[in-house]
Amino acid sequence: MKKGKLSWNITHMCNRNCRHCQVNSVEHSDKNDHLKWLPMSDAFKVAEKLSSNNIEYVGIAGGEPTLVPYLEALVEYASKQCGIELELVTNGILLTEESVFALAQNLKKVATSLDVDDMSPTAVFGRGLFQVETVKRTINLFKKYGISVEVKTLIPGSVNTNRLEQIVETVAEFGASEIQLRQWFKSEGLEIEFPRGLATTDEQFNGTADSIMQKYPDIKISKFSVEDMIKNYKVISFDAEFYTYGKDKRPIYHGNLLTDNLNLSQFLERI
Ligand code: SF4
Repeated sequence: MKKGKLSWNITHMCNRNCRHCQVNSVEHSDKNDHLKWLPMSDAFKVAEKLSSNNIEYVGIAGGEPTLVPYLEALVEYASKQCGIELELVTNGILLTEESVFALAQNLKKVATSLDVDDMSPTAVFGRGLFQVETVKRTINLFKKYGISVEVKTLIPGSVNTNRLEQIVETVAEFGASEIQLRQWFKSEGLEIEFPRGLATTDEQFNGTADSIMQKYPDIKISKFSVEDMIKNYKVISFDAEFYTYGKDKRPIYHGNLLTDNLNLSQFLERI
């Protein structure tokens, strides 16, 4: 019986350059500079390996997965041939009516992001003001096919609570199925200069998130803390490497799905 769940970052490329992005933290892109994503046949093999390792639910993420030219074929193969339930994590920018029609046949859910600074004239994170419209469009495109869209939002340490409330009200009005409030995670392997005020203490994060959840009891809102991140992090990188996180906030490399005889079942009970 299948029972596992993980994320698969099918590319480390993105069409945005958010300053809080964590993608390069565990993906060893220095030794794979030439590789943006696996050849399609290898990506299909990864899907087969996930299925044979009893992985039943996979979040297809990146980078930006819609940059990968065979995304629709991969999603169809993983769903129909490998029996994996799929979630797509996307910034939504490249989605079209046609691509959504093809993707929606094989997806269970979509997740996208809208952060406080995406709505601020002094935005420093990176997606920009147009992300509000992109999130609205993404929700509407998938709604036609009955696919729910979750919106993730970072709570910075220096959060402007009014703007956070504005985000919650805006995405609820757009029809998001759920809003996930996230604490920003600074991996020890992450070499980026992060915007001042982005890191939150556990106390700050929980205080802000709890007050938002209390203020909007009728909106489905969840929290995702650094502790949750460490506990739940199980990721296949764009070059098929499998990582979890240690309590010291450092990525732990376990092997490559294509070249090593990896047994993922030992990690499944931690999901
Ligand atoms: S859109 Fe997402 S993956 Fe792309 S740079 Fe921003 S945070 Fe990173």
